[in-house]
Amino acid sequence: MQEPVKAEAEFTNKDIVRFLLEKSKTFEPPTNADAITSCLELKVRWFSHHEHNLSPKIRAYLLPARLEIGIARNLSPHRRKFSILHEVGHYVNPGHWESLAANDMLLDDDKTLRDYSVVAREMEANRFAADCIFQLDRFQSDVSKLPINWANISMIARLYDTSVIATARRWVECSNVACALLIFVPSPSDDSDSLRYSYMIASDSFKETYFARLPKFDIPNGSVVVQAFRDSIGYTDLCEQLPVEVNKQVRHFDMPLFATPYGVYGLMVV
Ligand SMILES: [Zn+2]
Repeated sequence: MQEPVKAEAEFTNKDIVRFLLEKSKTFEPPTNADAITSCLELKVRWFSHHEHNLSPKIRAYLLPARLEIGIARNLSPHRRKFSILHEVGHYVNPGHWESLAANDMLLDDDKTLRDYSVVAREMEANRFAADCIFQLDRFQSDVSKLPINWANISMIARLYDTSVIATARRWVECSNVACALLIFVPSPSDDSDSLRYSYMIASDSFKETYFARLPKFDIPNGSVVVQAFRDSIGYTDLCEQLPVEVNKQVRHFDMPLFATPYGVYGLMVV
């Protein structure tokens, strides 16, 4: 008779986040990334690119053999926090690093740490970091009774000690109202101020009622989107009106704007 095979429970990433938040005694925002790494006995250290001969694009690494996370010296506090938790996301998923040779590092740059990375492993680590920062469903219950607008997004971002844009994304994704966040970035081939539409995130009800994606398009130079990018950082008083054809009818969507050094973000709430 064969010995019984022992069944194992499957832990999801969300279970691991819940466990780490409890173990680090994180019962309200903000999340402290260093408290989470301490629970796992991971060391976090700053690095300079020349010491490991790394490309200047590298923002963070995981060195599992030494239980070490490295963070580039020049990162802002919000990026440092996100990058640490992204590396923790890789660490708690053995499938992310078990094929590394001893003393090899898992490297992350601007691309892999970007919100819209399409590599499954990086999406998983980014989702893990966001779930830690926004404390799973805690964020949704905090924002569910508030109207979504840039002033409230900024207030909640301060509470969770994270960036306004990361907060806007999370809020739109979990919102019950019809809302969308459109991202405009500088045109790659142009050294002037011109911008183009890059991509959007929308709530389920927005996608069901209006649209889920738009084709790429350029923003005319006279647009307030370009003005916001040129003249502002942060919350602006500027609002663009975007005409979109929905079900053969042109609708004008109001889009208050938020500007960063990397692009402009338009928030549609219908
Ligand atoms: Zn990564």
